[in-house]
Amino acid sequence: MDDSADKIVKYFVQDSIIRQLEYIGEDPNREGLRETPNRIVKAWGEIFAGYQEDPADLLTTFDAGGYDQIVVSKNIELYSMCEHHMLPFFGRAHIAYIPDKRVVGISKLSRLLEVYARRLQIQERLGEQVVNALMKHLKPKGAACIIKAQHLCMMMRGVEKQNSVMVTSSLRGAFLDEPATRAELFSLVKD
Ligand SMILES: [Zn+2]
Repeated sequence: MDDSADKIVKYFVQDSIIRQLEYIGEDPNREGLRETPNRIVKAWGEIFAGYQEDPADLLTTFDAGGYDQIVVSKNIELYSMCEHHMLPFFGRAHIAYIPDKRVVGISKLSRLLEVYARRLQIQERLGEQVVNALMKHLKPKGAACIIKAQHLCMMMRGVEKQNSVMVTSSLRGAFLDEPATRAELFSLVKD
C-alpha cells in the first residue's frame, strides 16, 4: 500500500472508532478522547504486529551437538487478544521440543509465541500454531506448547469466576506418543 492509500485507510479506521465512541455514549470531541482514535490505531500497530511476521524467518536452526533431550522455555509472558471480543487474554506459556540433530536459539521460542500472539486469537489455536511451526521448520522429535491464561472477556463480564484460568496443551510427536516423555515434560514445567 502506498502512503496516500495508507492514509485514506487510516482515516476510515479512525472514523469508525469515533462512531464506536458515540455508540457507547461518549463525546468523541471531548479533550481526553480527541486523540484516542489515533492512539488506538498506533497501539494496534504493535498489538497486531504478528500479521507482518513470518515464523520461517525466525526459526533458523543450528547443530544440536548431540543433545537429544527435552529443551523447554518456561513461564514465557503472554499477551494476546481474543478474536471473539477483541479483549486481551494474558498469562504464561511453556514451549518445549526434543531436538532431532537441530536446535534453535532459546529466545526464538518466545519470539515465535509473539508472532502468533500478536494477532486475533483463540488460546487453543495459538498453541497449535506454535507447535505446528516448530514441527515444520525445526523438525524435532516432539513439540509442546502449554498455555495458562486469563481472559478479560470472561473476567470483566462476570461470565465465569473472576480467577478462572484456562489451560491448553498442544502436543506433537514424542510428547503425544510416549507417556513417559509427556510425564517428564509436565514435571519440568510444574510450578
Ligand atoms: Zn473473548
